[in-house]
Amino acid sequence: LRQQAIRDPLTSLFNRRYMMDFLEQHTYSAESQNEMLSIMMIDLDHFKRFNDTFGHDAGDYVLKQAAMELKQSVREDDLVCRYGGEEICIVCPDTDLDTARELGNMLVTRIAGQGMQFNGQSLGNITISMGIATRSNADTNHDQLLKEADNALYQAKEQGRNRAVIS
Ligand code: GH3
Ligand code: MG
Ligand code: MG
Repeated sequence: LRQQAIRDPLTSLFNRRYMMDFLEQHTYSAESQNEMLSIMMIDLDHFKRFNDTFGHDAGDYVLKQAAMELKQSVREDDLVCRYGGEEICIVCPDTDLDTARELGNMLVTRIAGQGMQFNGQSLGNITISMGIATRSNADTNHDQLLKEADNALYQAKEQGRNRAVIS
């Protein structure tokens, strides 16, 4: 029952509510221990088109695959959650901007290089866009941090997708 309450059934990632609790806790501990904390807001690119082309089941499958790839590529302490729809958020405790940038770029490259197949049919590649924000000063609360990451994600889309942009 507890797993059901904190996990997203499709991807098995943590759900948004659990992530918000985790983020809040870590924002406070980051503040008291003067630690860095970064978050990555991720959105699958042109996913509506993908569904329209290959169908919703293929879309579900690809979303699951992308989620798994992200989960397997981050560090143990990083929390990966399905933020909603085709959006995934990763919270990286104790992570400065340079480290987050490096990790973010690696994830973008890795997803773009993952060939997708479903029921024997090749689906080509999907890409992700990402906004990264790092909590740098003591008065950045978690809501501001999420907003910053979201704005950076918007810029990543504007700049042509398949990339990570730093807030
Ligand atoms: P952009 O690159 O600007 O993000 O384009 P987009 O098409 O990904 O964005 P848009 O917000 O227009 O569409 C999001 C799509 O994601 C539409 C919706 O059906 C699809 N989607 C969201 N959640 C799921 C899901 O659980 N499964 C499937 N198959 N599709 C989903
Ligand atoms: Mg979206
Ligand atoms: Mg999208």
